[in-house]
Amino acid sequence: MIKEKVKLIKSGKLTAEQNIKNYISKIKKKNSQLNCILHINEKAVSQAREVDKKIKSGCAGRLAGIGLIVKSNINVKGLICDCASKTLKNYISTYNATVIEKLLKEDAIVLGMANMDEFACGSSGETSAFGICKNPSALDRIPGGSSSGSAASVVAGFCDFALGSDTGGSIRNPASHCGVVGMKPSYGAVSRYGLIDLSMSLDQIGPLGSCVEDCEIIYSVIKGKDENDSISRNFDEKKKIGKIVIGVPKISADKQIWGLIRNKIKEVCEKNKWSFKDVELKYIDLGIQTYYPIVYVEFFSGTRKFDGRMYGFKIEDVCGAEVLRRILGGSEISKAEFAGKYYRKALKAKKIIEKEFANAFKKFDVIIMPTVPKLPHKLGQKISVEEMYNYDSLSVLANLAEIPAISIPAGKIDGVPVGLQILCARGDDDKMLGVGKRFDI
Ligand code: GLN
Repeated sequence: MIKEKVKLIKSGKLTAEQNIKNYISKIKKKNSQLNCILHINEKAVSQAREVDKKIKSGCAGRLAGIGLIVKSNINVKGLICDCASKTLKNYISTYNATVIEKLLKEDAIVLGMANMDEFACGSSGETSAFGICKNPSALDRIPGGSSSGSAASVVAGFCDFALGSDTGGSIRNPASHCGVVGMKPSYGAVSRYGLIDLSMSLDQIGPLGSCVEDCEIIYSVIKGKDENDSISRNFDEKKKIGKIVIGVPKISADKQIWGLIRNKIKEVCEKNKWSFKDVELKYIDLGIQTYYPIVYVEFFSGTRKFDGRMYGFKIEDVCGAEVLRRILGGSEISKAEFAGKYYRKALKAKKIIEKEFANAFKKFDVIIMPTVPKLPHKLGQKISVEEMYNYDSLSVLANLAEIPAISIPAGKIDGVPVGLQILCARGDDDKMLGVGKRFDI
């Protein structure tokens, strides 16, 4: 719990140095079994000592001495940012992403860079060029992805919190499978400057933590308008939540998972005297068909800079199968695009989904559904590309609708964590967090 930890550190009962040393030694001891971390920040302990000095002089920030793990597609000056790809192997960031600047200003300390699906393309963690990381909550299962190392690091106790990126579910999906909280903010609420993009109309950076309150604290630090990201903005947020009406859509997911989610909704509604009703959402079955053409085209376009001339290697020469599939697919779709057949059509469908949700939020405060429609598969089990893409059928909706969404642990099935997903109207991130806190176990 970040709030308590900061109090402890500021009171001198635990030094920042000690907190960071504890994490680094745990990572050094256990990471070879888990493979959550790709690179450790060797300067973390000396940076913690500087924070201790600031605490003594009474000028330390809100996150003094708190340790974080960063997904390997977010630039942290001086650390390797390789997107878990051979393309950017040993690429050292020359600047800090805006989110990192903001966290460092509050005296948080970067512990290291997390494993992930290559260039954030994946839902299982299996596409990393440097080996999959383990799911510490269910060792025989995939951790989910693409922010696999970020979620796994929180459960493994390698950090106080982690940062991930979410284009179609990559924060919420591994949060669900690993049993932690993961938040995707509203599109534009958090600056994407310094994030190596997967799909720029959908990407958002967000926190993963062990409770909703931790995500709330981190979100309050990283959010806001940034001159370096033209779509970033300040939303006029209302923190107060009154009587909440929850919408529950009819959407296909594993029966046992739905059972768990429904029970949780009932339990929380009874406790808080809230109500829940069915919400009808048309077109939400089109999520995957709408999401992938957009991602393929934007990813293809974004990867043209990885041609091996300025830095790294030519992406097509060294990347894995999933990344190559998207580059080739994106190139084909772009060629056919003169007729506006795919990408432009997908953007139109995106608008329709966005409107559908905006209308629903006129009647409902939040919408709740499972984060992922099925349990994570076993390590080594081969699944089809379609099955892999379907992991995201419920999480892509928030990205397409540009709304905030959070995954919170709802319980376990066969010992495997299952996440509950809360969605809210665009810009109502704080309200969503407020509701989320009542669902925290
Ligand atoms: N799994 C989805 C994909 O492969 C989402 C990825 C993400 O959110 N970064 O595109």
